[in-house]
Amino acid sequence: MADQTTDVLVIGVGGMGSATIAALAERGVDVIGIERYDIAHANGSSHGNTRIVRRPQYEDLSYVPLVEAAIERWHEIESAIDTRLYHAVGSLDIGPRDGSIFTDSKRSCLEHNIPHEVLDGSALNRRFSGYDVPPDHRAVYQPDGGFVRCEAAIIANVGRAHAAGGTIRARERVEYWSAAESGVRVETDRATYHAETMVVTAGAWTGQLLESLSGLLEPERQVMGWFQPATPSEYQPNAFPVFVCDVPEGHYYGFPIHETPGVKLGRFNHRSETGVPSTLDHTPDRTDESLLRSFTDSYLSAEIGPTQRLSTCLFTNTPDEDFLLDIHPDHESVIVGAGFSGHGFKFASVVGDILASLALDGATEHPIDPFAIDRFD
Ligand SMILES: Cc1cc2nc3c(=O)[nH]c(=O)nc-3n(C[C@H](O)[C@H](O)[C@H](O)COP(=O)(O)OP(=O)(O)OC[C@H]3O[C@@H](n4cnc5c(N)ncnc54)[C@H](O)[C@@H]3O)c2cc1C
Repeated sequence: MADQTTDVLVIGVGGMGSATIAALAERGVDVIGIERYDIAHANGSSHGNTRIVRRPQYEDLSYVPLVEAAIERWHEIESAIDTRLYHAVGSLDIGPRDGSIFTDSKRSCLEHNIPHEVLDGSALNRRFSGYDVPPDHRAVYQPDGGFVRCEAAIIANVGRAHAAGGTIRARERVEYWSAAESGVRVETDRATYHAETMVVTAGAWTGQLLESLSGLLEPERQVMGWFQPATPSEYQPNAFPVFVCDVPEGHYYGFPIHETPGVKLGRFNHRSETGVPSTLDHTPDRTDESLLRSFTDSYLSAEIGPTQRLSTCLFTNTPDEDFLLDIHPDHESVIVGAGFSGHGFKFASVVGDILASLALDGATEHPIDPFAIDRFD
């Protein structure tokens, strides 16, 4: 292929990259997205049907305005493309009464006027009968939370990009890039590109493309499991809100039955396995399965039958687990959207707008100071 020239090149068309390309194309920009795998694939961080969206942010209260903007944006995107991406099944933040998940989630609701109810474990188990959490645990129930359909969102964003004239090339891997007199020169395994600006949204591979940032970006192996309950009606979206739950066995999260059969569960920082993606085992094993089943056995009310599916996935953790959303400190033509750790997907709708603004204007109206790269200097 002859050398290609474009205004903006986006590296990585996953959760964040697809939203960025759509936002750029809709602003009339000449944009090309390069994806090493397929459009929606299971090797990165954005597969497994569903991602939790919670309005309260026990991780850090400063995320609340951004999550509110993200939810509004998901709804705008849904209306524009006439496709349902967001399911408001409610969210539960469950933990010991003095633990961070419960206390900071509640604080988040009180400080930001987020409608919510506080339930003790017994009340929660009565109201949502699929649960069997410790009676003295506490939960923040927030009715507008829920989940977003992750692969569907990527495909929808790629559709938006195509409709607005953007180009997306899958099964093409970026191998090398260098700063040019103006912009960047990028070599893939198929072509050479010249762009004014490059946006790097390469998920767990970002540290390999931006070596000076690799120490800030640590990929971590995770596993998701789907398990068939004996009473599936208790685990349908109308009966079983999404949850995060802190118990002695770990910090778990889960979803009602949706698309794939079975109730879906994960455990944060699953087995604490870190490394570059090629060194992490992408095949789930029996130990992975039993770690997830230790939650279903103790904290769900139904008898949990056969496993339906297991799938590995990658977090990309920064030292403080907050994102990197910034202009590269050494290259003004390079925009970085990375380090989304275990909680980034819900923000993808608005991250696309933020990265598009950084690429075009060098600034955004959204509150991204906490995500500046120089916080680690
Ligand atoms: C198991 C699990 C559960 C999670 N649960 C939640 C949740 O409930 N709620 C929530 O908000 N967040 C959650 N997250 C986090 C969220 O999913 C991630 O933060 C988000 O998906 C990250 O998106 P991304 O675009 O950075 O990465 P990705 O979607 O992985 O995209 C990066 C893309 O770059 C491509 N790429 C990499 N290198 C190259 C290259 N050299 N050339 C071309 N292409 C390249 C990759 O193939 C990939 O498609 C979870 C994550 C995991 C793993």
